[in-house]
Amino acid sequence: MTDRRTQLAANLAQVEERIASACVSAGRKREDVTLIVVTKTYPASDVRMLHELGVRHVAENRDQDAAPKATACADLSLTWHFVGQLQTNKVRSVAGYADVVQSVDRVKLVTALSAAAVRGERELGCLIQVALDAESGERGDRGGVAPDAIEELAASVDAAQGLRLDGLMTVAPLAGPYAGRQRAAFDRLMEFSSRLRGNHPAANMVSAGMSADLEDAVAAGATHVRVGTAVLGVRPRLG
Ligand SMILES: *Cc1c(COP(=O)(O)O)cnc(C)c1O
Repeated sequence: MTDRRTQLAANLAQVEERIASACVSAGRKREDVTLIVVTKTYPASDVRMLHELGVRHVAENRDQDAAPKATACADLSLTWHFVGQLQTNKVRSVAGYADVVQSVDRVKLVTALSAAAVRGERELGCLIQVALDAESGERGDRGGVAPDAIEELAASVDAAQGLRLDGLMTVAPLAGPYAGRQRAAFDRLMEFSSRLRGNHPAANMVSAGMSADLEDAVAAGATHVRVGTAVLGVRPRLG
């Protein structure tokens, strides 16, 4: 094994142990939590090694980086998640490789994603990104809609051709009442998820938790955790 591969394998094993033990603590089954490795800023060769090590879900947050990487890894059976703030002019590219867009936070984006999915003859999974720190009518600093806009957006995804409403996503807020209170933030997201599932029973995916707070997310009931740094190392540049 190369050094990089050894390092990735060791990191992955550590993250796996954290998820497994969080599941035990929460009385949840390990298979009810899916690990998504956030490969942003890291090369396609890392994605390939991660695939060899058993990773099946990866996430990216910038189309410029993600598009060539996805092309370079097109032969691998991977589910690609897009988790970054998404401008409508990037939608056509993202719809070419993403299986799930986790950062849906406005109707204009839904319209653009739907058109791109139909045009590319693909079905795109969509998560509504919730900004727990956003006031009504606003968007979060790191993207996402205020909680009172979830249902309107969900209905628009539901009605859109080529899109599938999969559930909710959040990033723990750095400011506001939930700053530093990841568990409370993720509990709140779970309440919104229960409410959403009342009208959309299939939208049962809950994406929450990153390297620093995946245990809180598993304890709250997240179905997907998004882990970058703990698997790949501290990112060489902002991302
Ligand atoms: C970068 C990123 C992650 C992973 O963060 P780490 O702290 O590196 O684990 C998760 N979710 C989103 C939306 C991200 O942009």
